[in-house]
Amino acid sequence: MANRITCPNCGRIKFDLHDYESMIVIDDRHALFSLRCPTCGQTVSSVQAIPLDLREEVRFAAIEVGAGMGRSNRSEE
Ligand SMILES: [Zn+2]
Repeated sequence: MANRITCPNCGRIKFDLHDYESMIVIDDRHALFSLRCPTCGQTVSSVQAIPLDLREEVRFAAIEVGAGMGRSNRSEE
């Protein structure tokens, strides 16, 4: 998976994932990040590996919304 974000507007490639505006978790390692380009202000969305230090935050957020980050099977019926 490409671990690089490119701004479609100005071509900037340096982004800090920690500056994300929103993050939609896809699985326990990847998320769709939306970032605002510091150069031109364009919002850029890209699927990226979640940085290790953000994973803790993700875990907490997932607990709050009740979304399982793991692959726990629901066997209740
Ligand atoms: Zn830009």
